[in-house]
Amino acid sequence: MLGTALVAVPAEARKKKKAEEVEKPVPGTLIDNIEGLSPDGKGGIEHFDGFLIAPDGHVAEVYHEGEKRPKYADYRLDGEGQVVVPGMIDAHTHVMMLGFSKLTLDLSQAHSLDEALARIAAWTAAHPEAPWILGTGWNEVEWGLGRLPTAAELDNVTGGKPAWLTRVDAHGGWANTAALEAAGITAKTKAPKGGRIVRTASGAPEGVLVDAAAKLVEAKLPAPRPEDRDAALAEAQLDFLRNGVTAVADMGTSIEDWQAFRRAGDTGRLRVRIVSYADSIANMELIGGPGPSAWVYDDRLRLSGVKLFLDGALGSRGAWLKEPYADDPETRGLPLLSQTQLSNMMSRAALDHFQVAVHAIGDEANAVVLDALDELSSTYTGDRRWRIEHAQILAPADITRFAAHGTIASMQPQHEASDRTMAEARLGPARLSGAYAWKSLANAGATLAFGSDTPVEPARPFTGMAVAVTRQGADGQPFGGWQPQETISREAALSAYTTGAAYAMFAEDRLGRIAKGYRADFLFVDKDPMTVSPEALRDLTVKETWIGGQQAWAAEESAKSEDALRPEEDIEDGQKGR
Ligand SMILES: [Zn+2]
Repeated sequence: MLGTALVAVPAEARKKKKAEEVEKPVPGTLIDNIEGLSPDGKGGIEHFDGFLIAPDGHVAEVYHEGEKRPKYADYRLDGEGQVVVPGMIDAHTHVMMLGFSKLTLDLSQAHSLDEALARIAAWTAAHPEAPWILGTGWNEVEWGLGRLPTAAELDNVTGGKPAWLTRVDAHGGWANTAALEAAGITAKTKAPKGGRIVRTASGAPEGVLVDAAAKLVEAKLPAPRPEDRDAALAEAQLDFLRNGVTAVADMGTSIEDWQAFRRAGDTGRLRVRIVSYADSIANMELIGGPGPSAWVYDDRLRLSGVKLFLDGALGSRGAWLKEPYADDPETRGLPLLSQTQLSNMMSRAALDHFQVAVHAIGDEANAVVLDALDELSSTYTGDRRWRIEHAQILAPADITRFAAHGTIASMQPQHEASDRTMAEARLGPARLSGAYAWKSLANAGATLAFGSDTPVEPARPFTGMAVAVTRQGADGQPFGGWQPQETISREAALSAYTTGAAYAMFAEDRLGRIAKGYRADFLFVDKDPMTVSPEALRDLTVKETWIGGQQAWAAEESAKSEDALRPEEDIEDGQKGR
């Protein structure tokens, strides 16, 4: 088995050897006898077989084959030929949503409505103390339901308690009758701007609330306590660590989220590096004050800017398209901000050098952001790193516009595999060439930053890499890949999860590579991600995750301790509960 125990070299031996060989012992930890690989920062991959970590957690030196290394470091770790890669960076996550999804009902593994209802019933029985039944992860498309689920269906399994279950894409939720009543939603209730109340033929609310309409129920939810948030953050970090994610961009940080990050930092519980994008201009100002915050807690936390939403998601037909939906000619989606509002918010952020990340999924939404950038870039000059989040559906003519102002395409390969058939239905065949167009964007000079959008997709960067190089799902479908001209190389995919993601968060000088001067964030993995088959890449196993030169997680040790940490209800046991 792997032997990554650090071996301290006794001071006596060091002294003796030193006298014999006149070699000065070096402080720090030597990671030796590995198959190391890292993006070289120029688009290629550098191979090496050892590196030295300074006591402050930076990489002090990288050693290539045959290169002389210090014989006597404070600690030496024999990697026994294992593969070591940089810590992965997830460029688009929702940290607290991920954490809460682990603490509440997870419907992402329910493959039918019946299965979902059984899980909800089991959870309800197992949590008699919960005032609300909360959960996430359902997807009626995956269930093959052909319609949305209803409040009445939920009423049967929720024992009269209010229930609110957000859809997998977080662009809407499913309420039961008690929740609709708690929110005062009746046949007479008008949907708020940017939202939709799904109704029965008679106009009564049917159960699902889309986009802004979800706020009607969400305003009534009991607020999580600070200790609930701390527990959620711990869960999220655990999930990142076991998947080899050492740094993330948090898209939409609230004040409460930021305070949870700060509490974790203050008490040494912040392990994963978080770069925050505030959930509003107001919170951006409140957190950052006169500008982006400093890096704190040894480069573990920073507020970089703000996340804005221009449109919704494709699944719920909230994405703003240039032409009507192929499967609903009545609508082309909706903008959540007017062009003036968008420009004003972007200006306000850019004025104080906050970084701007705009959620844009539909081709019209993307075009409007690119227009805004054309307009703002003459005023707000310099290194801005404007980010478009998702950039999912692009008009071919807009792809070439990304490079103009150094715009970053922050994209999520796993969405392509999960959503391709839905995208075909929503868009029809003619608009697919600009969908998830990674290769075209890279060719046009855009920087690709890859992420998961977790909890929408699991934060599994190697799964994302496998999709990026194949355009296929876990089932190997479709044969030859979907729109295969948009596959990218392994080097490009690895870079998008490391150096590209680091660049997108103004961290390319410290994160994303195993190189001298960089933070020593790295992984021991079971196979070489550059050479294994795509199937093996998809399931690449992380054995150890190191952050800042310290082991933050190890598969071997976690098995026991994680079970003890997390008393999860046993879904397999069905109704039994705890
Ligand atoms: Zn997101």
